[in-house]
Amino acid sequence: MNTNSGAILVLSGPSGAGKSSLINKISDDIGDFYFSISTTTRPIRDGEVNGIHYYFVSEEEFKKDIEDNLFLEYAVVHGNYYGTSLKPVRKALREKKLIIFDIDVQGNTAIKNRLGDITTSVFITPPSLSELQKRLENRSTDEQEVIDARLKMAKREIQRISEYDFLIINDEINEASRTLKKIANASRLKISHDDINIFVNKWEDL
Ligand code: 5GP
Repeated sequence: MNTNSGAILVLSGPSGAGKSSLINKISDDIGDFYFSISTTTRPIRDGEVNGIHYYFVSEEEFKKDIEDNLFLEYAVVHGNYYGTSLKPVRKALREKKLIIFDIDVQGNTAIKNRLGDITTSVFITPPSLSELQKRLENRSTDEQEVIDARLKMAKREIQRISEYDFLIINDEINEASRTLKKIANASRLKISHDDINIFVNKWEDL
């Protein structure tokens, strides 16, 4: 069926779960997609590029965008603001693209409430808390204090896995990426409420 809208794939999971590596691995095999670049007030990390990993802004700028209703959703994560701008999402949906979001559990709830009919959600996690700790420490981009906060947060987020359509345990990256590829390609086929109405009306006319 030729749909009028695009589709959304939400990926959540603790920092260190391997979300970015998984997306990079499957990016050639899931057709045309738009990876949503969030806006954040958190400090830029070594190796990150403004406009590629995030749009890095001041808290003042972020709050102005909230006032101007420019966000599809936003949340405070680890004490910093993170948000998804509405405009590029609207554009990508018009272009019938698959939009991939890397957002936290609060963001997933917000997207589900607003665009649930075209959204598929996936929670990605390492096999255990100790494995997550090991990965975060090996990554060594964050201070111990930040790592501890992320581990604490991960313990809370893991309690909300049942809010997601799929769970991927990223133990072995090739296997995890094969699973994510299947989910991403299927998520494109979700039909919006509008498209269903159009189809039903047309179907009855025949
Ligand atoms: P990090 O600082 O490690 O890049 O991201 C921290 C957390 O913020 C991750 O769980 C990530 O998924 C989440 N996050 C990133 N961008 C957004 C966003 O635009 N909205 C929400 N709700 N969460 C986000």
